[in-house]
Amino acid sequence: TTVFERINALNPDYIPKNLPHREIQIRELTVNFRDILINPGSTSVRVVITGKTGTGKTVTAKKFGEIFSEIAKEKGLKIFYLHINCHRQRTLYLILMEIARQLNLQIPNRGLSSQETFKLIYDYLDKRNIQLILALDEFDYFISTSPVEDIYFLVRIYDELNALVKRIHYIFILREMSSLASLDKSIKDHVIKNIIEFHPYTSSDLFDILDDRIKTEKAFREGAVPEETIKFIADIYGVDKGGNGNARLAIETLELAGKIADTEGSPQVSIDHAKKANSKINPELSIIIDTIKDLDLHQLLVVKAIMNLHKKEGVDFFPMGRVEEEYNLVSRELGAPPRKHTQLFEYIRKLKLMGLIVARQSGKGMRGRTTLISLSVPLSTEFEDLINNEIRDKLL
Ligand code: ADP
Repeated sequence: TTVFERINALNPDYIPKNLPHREIQIRELTVNFRDILINPGSTSVRVVITGKTGTGKTVTAKKFGEIFSEIAKEKGLKIFYLHINCHRQRTLYLILMEIARQLNLQIPNRGLSSQETFKLIYDYLDKRNIQLILALDEFDYFISTSPVEDIYFLVRIYDELNALVKRIHYIFILREMSSLASLDKSIKDHVIKNIIEFHPYTSSDLFDILDDRIKTEKAFREGAVPEETIKFIADIYGVDKGGNGNARLAIETLELAGKIADTEGSPQVSIDHAKKANSKINPELSIIIDTIKDLDLHQLLVVKAIMNLHKKEGVDFFPMGRVEEEYNLVSRELGAPPRKHTQLFEYIRKLKLMGLIVARQSGKGMRGRTTLISLSVPLSTEFEDLINNEIRDKLL
């Protein structure tokens, strides 16, 4: 017996019917590429998609490609969407070979130059009147490893060919806009036209994404994943809850939680299964667990104080004075007389050395200079439980 129904719907390469919270981005892509439908051949469209890992850049680009080539077909136009991963196809040559392969075009195996190879590809498109949308995923990687001439060639293919009819359009997929910084202005101008940003997902975004995989895509049997488990996973990764907003990790955690439920012979995926899955997927956390076990009561109370502030105020850094106030409050509440100011400084120094907190000096703007403090780990329910449990054990 198993909690899964269609486990392949959780596969990282699976493209679901719906992409919750990426409808706007798909619409923006469609608007940007509309010219190819209206006046094919007149311009080469270039769009940059940027955002952190797991924000849906790849899946959204692919989905757009599906939808857009379908629209074109209905209008009697041939628009092909090709997705190339520049991390897998590491050089200009391999990228060109991959384009040919996806087009089903045989390239003679006798050491053609990039120009010659490209000419073959262009002629192929021209003969069949095809417009090509080339999505270059992990383009950061291509920029950081390729010779400038190759980058130049790839993004300025038309000038090389003197082609009158524009047939190639680009989606550059970048993790960081700053990876373009090293390029010449002339190349940059060719890349940066329209920028579509993908923000990290919030907890409620992730809830919708997971819920859609479970229910619409039927990854799990009906009723196998209670709402509270979905919410728990969404809270771990939601950017508004201190997570990284990464949908890939959220889906992976859900899948692993299901496998753990299966191993334990449970008909439902519980929060506890999700916690176990999370500590496997986030090895950082297991290192942190060891560190926390070494802390004494008052060090733990300092961590709890900072945790409380993060939760209450939702900002990243707190002045030392605020931490001290909150620490005094927390200690009294738990019946442990707070330690003196100098001792508190010592705790902070120690926690910083252990990598649990980050401390920095305030810049100008605040009166005088003060130490600002932040937790170095994302605030998650799991982390919170860990601290609270340790404090409880040490109070006994
Ligand atoms: P990126 O390219 O930004 O690193 P991906 O597109 O690879 O992110 O997405 C990571 C995983 O999360 C994939 O399995 C993808 O299907 C899924 N995913 C991301 N965003 C969404 C969304 N809005 N709806 C459904 N699934 C999503």
